[in-house]
Amino acid sequence: MDKKPLAKDGISSILEEKIYVIADEVLDILKQLSHDNKKQLNSKSIAERMAVRDTVKKMLADPTPGQQGSDDPLNQESKKELNRLKEITSSFLDKFSDLAPDMLTEEILELKKQLHDRDSFESTASRLDSLMKYIKIYFDALYLKNKELEEFMQQTVRYLQETEEHIAAELSLHQTKFNEDREFEKSISVNMNLITDNFVSSGSVTDGFQNLKKAVLGKIGNINNAIDRKREQDINRLKETEQTLASMGSRIHGIKKEADDIRKKAEELEMESLRDRLTGLYNRKAYDQKVDETIANLNRYGVPSALVFCDIDFFKKINDTFGHTVGDLALKKLSALLKEKLRVNDFISRFGGEEFAIILPHTTLGEAQKAGEALRLYIDKAQFSYKNQDIALKISIGISGFRKDDSAESVMERADSALYLAKNSGRNTVRTEQDVIREGSVLGNKSVTT
Ligand code: GH3
Ligand code: MG
Ligand code: MG
Repeated sequence: MDKKPLAKDGISSILEEKIYVIADEVLDILKQLSHDNKKQLNSKSIAERMAVRDTVKKMLADPTPGQQGSDDPLNQESKKELNRLKEITSSFLDKFSDLAPDMLTEEILELKKQLHDRDSFESTASRLDSLMKYIKIYFDALYLKNKELEEFMQQTVRYLQETEEHIAAELSLHQTKFNEDREFEKSISVNMNLITDNFVSSGSVTDGFQNLKKAVLGKIGNINNAIDRKREQDINRLKETEQTLASMGSRIHGIKKEADDIRKKAEELEMESLRDRLTGLYNRKAYDQKVDETIANLNRYGVPSALVFCDIDFFKKINDTFGHTVGDLALKKLSALLKEKLRVNDFISRFGGEEFAIILPHTTLGEAQKAGEALRLYIDKAQFSYKNQDIALKISIGISGFRKDDSAESVMERADSALYLAKNSGRNTVRTEQDVIREGSVLGNKSVTT
């Protein structure tokens, strides 16, 4: 978040002083905003805060020499910087437009045009904001594509399953028919044999009868031969059908497996986009989705849920004393402890930095308070050490209960205020939104981050 001074060399001392004042103000605002994970870090939120600061107001009212004449070397210096910023943004836009989907082509072109049309630093900075917005749209579009592909594959697998069932049914029909034909042939053969036996054993015969007998026996022989041929043909046909159906079946099995693999890949990709890399817990994006789902469930089915917002106590000290790698190990250890202690249905996410947002479904505020206290104690009692050195790993917890008219922001705001109260009450402790109402006025009802 460090920004270089815009133009150091050749700048007049008045402007230099003003830049440092502005830099201080920006740093201060950034410090506030970076503590506050719920607010977005962008030039608009910084500008809004800047506008209400007295020092800035005063400076805006008092024009600098650089703003007065276009031939001023100072002004030219600033322009050079502005152009450099524009160049960077423009080259970024060029690269991004290769990557971005067609749907964003027009927006990117417009952004590039505006970048060259307008001259001020503020408008260039706001172009950067638009760019960030487009990058977000781009990622959302990728996510959507992935989802569409997954739905398509599911549909394909369903069709393939139906076809396979069809083939199996067809084969069994063929077999049944084959068996029925054989039964029929058998019964004809038996009858033919009976007739033959009758004729052969018939006693006194006249010449005429002898001739008739011969003719009939000949015909019966023919019928028996025809039955034999038919049986042979049927057997061959059945074999062919069985082979065709078997090879179709194995082809379908192959396609189904391929489709299944693609679906699994899509699922894995989606899972990956919802997971925090370091801890393996759900990430902020997954949390945002889950909160919306939780509020919808409360409104539709009246399912009560609670938000348990945890923050590691004095985490900066762990980083400062043992280094960032040990800090990362502490985050992993805490994640494992959260998973150990909580239920499988509880939704555990890394909200940001060393903050964890947990949603307990089917849980009232009172129940969540008990669960939060048990969780805090479990972590307090757990051992975390590095190279045989014990490291204090403790958390403070703020809890709010979901309400029907809640937004993602409002439910988090109440949990955050409760967390602030927990921090102010000595840390390694649990507070709920009700405690804030009870005790909050004593300590000043604020957020952790302000
Ligand atoms: P408090 O008890 O008031 O919460 O104090 P704190 O030191 O825990 O809080 P603070 O907000 O001052 O510091 C949080 C620190 O967490 C600062 C930041 O560098 C560190 N941090 C954030 N993300 C990570 C990470 O991914 N890994 C490591 N190692 N540190 C991180
Ligand atoms: Mg924090
Ligand atoms: Mg902390």
